[in-house]
Amino acid sequence: MKNLETIQQLDAADLLADFRNRFELPDGMIYLDGNSLGVMPKSAPARMKDVVETQWGQHLITSWNRHDWIGLPRRLGGMIAGLIGAKPEEVVVADSTSINIFKTLSAAVQLNPDRSVILSETGNFPTNVYMMQGLSANSAASIRHQMVPTDELEAHFNDDVAALLITQAHYKTGYLHDMQAITRAAQAKGILVIWDLCHSAGALPIDLNACNADMAVGCGYKYLNGGPGAPAFIFVAERHQEDVMPVLSGWLGHARPFDFSDQYVPAPGIDRFKCSSPSILGMSALECGLEIAAEADMTEVRKKSVALTELFIEQVEARLAGHGFKLASPRDPKIRGSQVSFHHENGYPIMQALIDRGVIGDFRDPDILRFGFTPLYTSYEDVWRAAEILQEIMESGAWREARYSVRAAVT
Ligand SMILES: *Cc1c(COP(=O)(O)O)cnc(C)c1O
Repeated sequence: MKNLETIQQLDAADLLADFRNRFELPDGMIYLDGNSLGVMPKSAPARMKDVVETQWGQHLITSWNRHDWIGLPRRLGGMIAGLIGAKPEEVVVADSTSINIFKTLSAAVQLNPDRSVILSETGNFPTNVYMMQGLSANSAASIRHQMVPTDELEAHFNDDVAALLITQAHYKTGYLHDMQAITRAAQAKGILVIWDLCHSAGALPIDLNACNADMAVGCGYKYLNGGPGAPAFIFVAERHQEDVMPVLSGWLGHARPFDFSDQYVPAPGIDRFKCSSPSILGMSALECGLEIAAEADMTEVRKKSVALTELFIEQVEARLAGHGFKLASPRDPKIRGSQVSFHHENGYPIMQALIDRGVIGDFRDPDILRFGFTPLYTSYEDVWRAAEILQEIMESGAWREARYSVRAAVT
């Protein structure tokens, strides 16, 4: 097993090491939950102070023009486009991931009007499934949602399927789909492919256009470090944009919102996928995270991500053989995102004991301990120390304390 000195040499040689200083990392905490809520960019408090005190406090409504608030959704969309292999005019930041999932699903069934099925995999993130259910329940039986196990997906690609909604990196296990292969196989059957990038945007190189993806959505508050409840993004390939009449036809997706006309006319291009007034405070915080991500080489980010997850698996398995941990993530790093999950029958209290000692991961029912690795601010030493603390908790039996079994509202 590697010793601490070897680990510290890895940190010393790390090309991304300087990024760590751009983030606020609380003392005494090893944060392995950036796949759920990214840490705060150090630039965020001053930016928020300016937006709140000057732009909002002093300049008030004139800021829509004076500080180009109205342009924020597209400006941030352009920054995200650079991270996901899209053109700037194909991405806009708006609303939430759930809402954007609904927009893409409803667009896809419009674009594929002779087909009645929207398809996804069982065990996908709940909101994705619920949005599918909501759309089909309100379709007067013209749309049916279908969930099938991952390894049966391709067998269900047929000419009744309008759209495939698929999450690139699975939220529980980190299983990573092959975007190119799945997009090609589904499109060969005339299916439109919607990628959910919540657990991959900002964590690995993504090239939507090289894969010919149709649509995509993703989250601002995970690997993009945009802050709690940050706005989300939506990608619609240029070739589809003009053919969609948005179902969520909000006024900011109108061609001329300030005509205040009674008749909805969709804006040209990606702007029609906006809906409501943008959350300026949320977008301003997200901009801080995106500025940092824009400077990072995603190929290096991925390389380090693989090294961090490999190290964690190696450390946990070497230190904790016989303690009941079973790897829930793929062992092959090529099909693993930037997280590592383990099954353990006492997963909940073990995670609470870790959190109590400053190692922050999370728990997902029924028995999964989940650890996210965020190469811009997680060091090799963090990984080594997290495994050491886990070993200490297991060997001492500290996790058995009754208070660690009390369930909180958010796990
Ligand atoms: C985090 C996540 C979401 C979040 O949806 P919200 O609308 O932001 O609550 C959706 N889908 C997946 C796959 C996620 O991982």
